[in-house]
Amino acid sequence: RGTVVLAATPIGNSADASARLIALLERANIVAAEDTRRLYALANRLGVHVGGRVVANHDHNERGKADQLLDDVAAGATVLVVSDAGMPTINDPGLAIVRRAIERGLPVTCAPGPSAVLDALALSGLPTDRFCYEGFLPRRHAERMQHLRALKGERRTIVFYETLHRIAESIADLEEAFGPDRPMALCRELTKDYEQIRRGAIGEIRASVADDPPRGEMVLVIGGASGADVPETAALGVDELADLALRYADDH
Ligand code: SAM
Repeated sequence: RGTVVLAATPIGNSADASARLIALLERANIVAAEDTRRLYALANRLGVHVGGRVVANHDHNERGKADQLLDDVAAGATVLVVSDAGMPTINDPGLAIVRRAIERGLPVTCAPGPSAVLDALALSGLPTDRFCYEGFLPRRHAERMQHLRALKGERRTIVFYETLHRIAESIADLEEAFGPDRPMALCRELTKDYEQIRRGAIGEIRASVADDPPRGEMVLVIGGASGADVPETAALGVDELADLALRYADDH
């Protein structure tokens, strides 16, 4: 039997391509790429000859493609799954084939590497021991505000992906939902020549974005709730505690 291998690709700096990614690009029987032109452009930059058959595997066709690719895995092929940048499945295609491989009992593994989530989190200077990844915020203001208000009491560090054209509105909404004082980091162009991390309170970053609009790709990392933003947990009375203790004793 063959294997599905998810492989992370560079998020900006080609030198971040792992030796394992390069070997897989050369040797995999099939490369399932989010965008085949971008795959060949990466291979060119790395000076790698893609040895196997290349197929497109994007958001719109990946469910239909999964079984075909897995038939090849069952017949002994190594199928390499790559997205345009970073880790497949993280706001990128790849999950459909992972799920289907699990259902069919076929092997799936990962050649890990760059992903903007962890890069930004580690550089933010905010607590990394507990964090949550929220992907992209909703596009529309009303939904975005509803989503952010629901996250106001989240104690873990929160990571969002954002696009250039919505950054100013999103930070204004973050300020409205979380207040101006929460610490945050705006991490842009990670691993690239113009990498820049702006760290400060949400209100300061909002002003900095208005003064000097950031360009390129970006990740927002927001400090978790503390103080008044932490939701109150209902205090248990003596009777309720005694009841819990009895139930615990029954269960054990
Ligand atoms: N699969 C990718 C990963 O593992 O990071 C994410 C793909 S998602 C479609 C693209 C988003 O990731 C961008 O809009 C941006 O928020 C973030 N991103 C990717 N590369 C980045 C970089 N070099 N610097 C900052 N953000 C980046």
